[in-house]
Amino acid sequence: MGGIANLSVRELRGVGPRLAEKLADYGVHRLQDLLFHLPLRYQDRTRVTPIAAARDGDDVVIEGEIRATDVAFGRRRSLVARIQDGSGTLTLRFFHFSAAQKNKLQPGTRLRCFGQVRRGGSGLEMYHPEYRELVEGESPVEQALTPIYPTTAGIGQNQWRKLCSQALAYLQRERPDDLLPPNRSYPYDLARALAYLHAPPPDAPQEQLREGTHPAQLLLALEELVAHNLSLYRLREEQQQEGAPALPLNREQHSTFLATLPFTPTAAQQRVLAEIAADLAKPVPMLRLVQGDVGSGKTLVAAGAALQAIANGYQVAIMAPTEILAEQHWASFSGWFAPMAISMEWLSGRTKGKKREAALQRIATGEASLVIGTHALFQHDVTFSRLGLVIVDEQHRFGVHQRLALTEKTSPDQGRPHQLVMTATPIPRTLSMVAYADLDCSVIDELPPGRLAVTTALIDSSRRQQVVTRVAAACSKGRQAYWVCTLIEESDALQAQAAEATAAELRLALPQLDIGLIHGRLKPAEKEAVMATFKSGELSLLVATTVIEVGVDVPNASLMIIENPERLGLAQLHQLRGRVGRGSQASHCVLLYQTPLSANGKQRLGALRESSDGFYIAEKDLELRGPGEVLGTRQTGLMEFRIAELPGHNHLLDEVQAIATLLRTQYPERVEPLIQRWTGSSQQFAKV
Ligand code: ADP
Ligand code: MG
Repeated sequence: MGGIANLSVRELRGVGPRLAEKLADYGVHRLQDLLFHLPLRYQDRTRVTPIAAARDGDDVVIEGEIRATDVAFGRRRSLVARIQDGSGTLTLRFFHFSAAQKNKLQPGTRLRCFGQVRRGGSGLEMYHPEYRELVEGESPVEQALTPIYPTTAGIGQNQWRKLCSQALAYLQRERPDDLLPPNRSYPYDLARALAYLHAPPPDAPQEQLREGTHPAQLLLALEELVAHNLSLYRLREEQQQEGAPALPLNREQHSTFLATLPFTPTAAQQRVLAEIAADLAKPVPMLRLVQGDVGSGKTLVAAGAALQAIANGYQVAIMAPTEILAEQHWASFSGWFAPMAISMEWLSGRTKGKKREAALQRIATGEASLVIGTHALFQHDVTFSRLGLVIVDEQHRFGVHQRLALTEKTSPDQGRPHQLVMTATPIPRTLSMVAYADLDCSVIDELPPGRLAVTTALIDSSRRQQVVTRVAAACSKGRQAYWVCTLIEESDALQAQAAEATAAELRLALPQLDIGLIHGRLKPAEKEAVMATFKSGELSLLVATTVIEVGVDVPNASLMIIENPERLGLAQLHQLRGRVGRGSQASHCVLLYQTPLSANGKQRLGALRESSDGFYIAEKDLELRGPGEVLGTRQTGLMEFRIAELPGHNHLLDEVQAIATLLRTQYPERVEPLIQRWTGSSQQFAKV
């Protein structure tokens, strides 16, 4: 934007150094930043509602005269004022109040109040309303809907409103630069959209604004998504400018490796292996995402890539989100690489003391070629001598910055390591366009032969006894079963408790069965021992927390009960269910849900019963729960948009892609200003 918009917020009335500093925390430095600090929602203070017409839960403006004021001593002391208009009476209630306040609210005073109406003990009430004394001949209420701005501490709503309306006044003198490519049709005009959204007229379609479907919102969402896409792409270019070690494929070694496997790679695995091999051979960092449904064999693809880097004398780091998954990788890789004498190193949060020092030493000197671990790989004192490839499994649990941090753990003169990201959860195409615009994508769209589809049934918990009987019947025929206990709490301790209680109960109900128990509280060796006994067939039923979501492979297990599946995401349920159906028997999954099930819950579990296609399930999950849940990135800030909302704005994504490409190729000078405009303070995620 031209001159005016670049003015510092210091130019505005009431902005001194202190406030400027607070605004800077929000990424607001210039007038333009205020214009793009968009309201989250609106209140309607454009009309006065007669008290009689106010309903429980409404945010309304009322006007009336105070009839009585008193201090009430209930469970909590409160100041109570009865206010009356021509239509009815309502109680204003203040739990915190001053003597001065009490004196002002005297009978006879006329007030205008704004607040949420609720039905209390004495009829309609408003707690802590905003209020103001009405002066004779007072102008009517607000001329526009009242914006509610995103804010945390330090800056109040009124302050934001004053600042933004000053910024809007400038907007009338000069329009912001149109940065989207010209000669296309857009839902709205940029300057008008900003003015509209900061101060929608009283007759604005509030329903549309709430849903984010107003054309002014669509235009800005489009811009924001384009900016986001461009910033990810720029991140990619920055990395690729640095160069990477070229790691050509040793074909002979590669075929020897494949020949030693107990199975033949699927065509899809071979295709993806070839895509990766070609990337690694180039002196540019690979940035590749491998997507494949649960059980599609992503680990083998990772192993092929690792081998290629190691054969070139480079180190490889493999990072998994949980210890149990890292352990599973350790087991797979040490089996496959045994004939090749590759030196492997383990690093997790539990690697401590002398052991850890020794591991760090071997990683730093390059003695360890393959390092497998968890988040512990991020720690400051972990450094590599020649890191050539970073493999991140289950990307959705790590943020972009975490992945990048790992690639910076080697001496800079080597260039950037190649990056291979594997998602256990297929990512809907629409979402990957926004979340992974910086990565090339390979898809393993085929399962190893011989897998049977898992039949899924929904049973409500009142029929739990029937399910227990069914488990007993299956196990008496030599089949094995999982009983999965779910809790929303992340706490290992609580999950362990729940699983222990269930195991105790099932042992009582089914004394004829050998029942095992596995949860995150067990030591790795203990978990391994339990899994080994289950795998050997000694145990017929395994009670587990969601720790078995990943990395457990017992072909004879053909029945899975999941308790309270409504608590988990679809992707996670799909992963869990992928633990059965790995043998030659027909397999079943019982979702033992708690009644009543919400409509959304019904739809979600229904999707799981209908389909065994991870991509379809991920689309549904996105539709029903939103991208933060699907990607598991709520904490990372990756998907914190100002105005765009997914999946609500999914239909814009094709256009986003087209516009972003057009800008990069035809209007490169607009790219930076557009990213600047939208990413402001959230910029740090792109910078690491
Ligand atoms: P995921 O994609 O879920 O990570 P894994 O890599 O864990 O899948 O593979 C699942 C199972 O399938 C493992 O036991 C693995 O050894 C086996 N597997 C992988 N590729 C093949 C194949 N081409 N043929 C048969 N089994 C395979
Ligand atoms: Mg896997």
